Amino acid sequence: MGKPKAKVDREKCLACGGCISVCPQDALSWYGSKALVDDEKCISCAICIRICPVGAISGEVY
Ligand code: SF4
Ligand code: SF4
Repeated sequence: MGKPKAKVDREKCLACGGCISVCPQDALSWYGSKALVDDEKCISCAICIRICPVGAISGEVY
């Protein structure tokens, strides 16, 4: 079992693109008009969780 991965709430995401630009693993990308986490790439650093202006990304506190 790895760490839990970040997850985007598609209802809350405003598609600002902030998380996509800051992810050090390039794990976030557009899926339709919303951000989506690639679990294979995510290292659970939580940077995206902190940067999202609307709290759309959740995850355990790493
Ligand atoms: S937790 Fe870190 S590695 Fe995972 S999607 Fe967010 S910024 Fe990228
Ligand atoms: S930072 Fe938040 S609102 Fe912006 S694209 Fe990412 S999940 Fe959506």
